[in-house]
Amino acid sequence: MIELETIQQQVLDAKQLRIFAGKSQFENPKSAPSVALLDMTQYAGVIEYYPEELVITVKAGTTIKHLNEILVENNQATSFVLPDNEKSTIGGAYAMGNPDLRDAVLGIKIIDGRGRLLSFGGQVMKNVAGYDVARLLAGSKGKMAIICEISFKIIPLNYAQKIACLKNIDQPIPIKTKKLSTLKIQIEQGIKNIFDPLGKFI
Ligand SMILES: Cc1cc2nc3c(=O)[nH]c(=O)nc-3n(C[C@H](O)[C@H](O)[C@H](O)COP(=O)(O)OP(=O)(O)OC[C@H]3O[C@@H](n4cnc5c(N)ncnc54)[C@H](O)[C@@H]3O)c2cc1C
Repeated sequence: MIELETIQQQVLDAKQLRIFAGKSQFENPKSAPSVALLDMTQYAGVIEYYPEELVITVKAGTTIKHLNEILVENNQATSFVLPDNEKSTIGGAYAMGNPDLRDAVLGIKIIDGRGRLLSFGGQVMKNVAGYDVARLLAGSKGKMAIICEISFKIIPLNYAQKIACLKNIDQPIPIKTKKLSTLKIQIEQGIKNIFDPLGKFI
């Protein structure tokens, strides 16, 4: 297991960095010596869990399997369906842009391309003036920032089961892979310039 300070130092030391976790979507890089690899499965575990508040905060490398096991002990569940394999992590699912997870997110802690630890949002739902960064970085695919911690809403297990039954969902919502519009590319470049102006995350 690693500490946030260690990750921050890795960002400062690296010329370029590739982030991975459970590797379910990650293709092994044709590794150039200048590209360091960051394994986020080393930053895993529950930070805070308030069953009565229906909120949990976890480290990004926590597997979805482990998360589900903890929640079910309290008759609770996530409001989103994610692959429950041994490897997939919550940070990876957020970085891949699972839409239901994005909707449930209340706050995130990230490390940006300058190695700064930044927090956005919190553990309660608030109206956001300006950019809702906690949701903006959903789908950033490891190219904008390191997602370190995520707080999100959870729901009672029987409610989750009813929703799944009503909507007939027991599979994750497929990730959209359609071609980006020119506007979307420009927006993504703008976000990259804010969080990773030196182009560390590739
Ligand atoms: C067969 C299969 C089917 C799937 N179907 C679906 C589906 O239908 N719907 C769905 O929502 N998901 C689906 N997934 C994807 C899955 O939910 C997520 O991709 C998975 O949780 C990613 O987690 P991972 O730990 O394996 O990430 P990895 O595969 O290791 O990484 C995925 C991406 O996220 C980035 N990343 C990982 N962790 C972080 C972090 N902490 N900070 C910043 N960037 C990070 C990586 O750079 C990479 O770009 C599927 C996966 C598989 C293998």
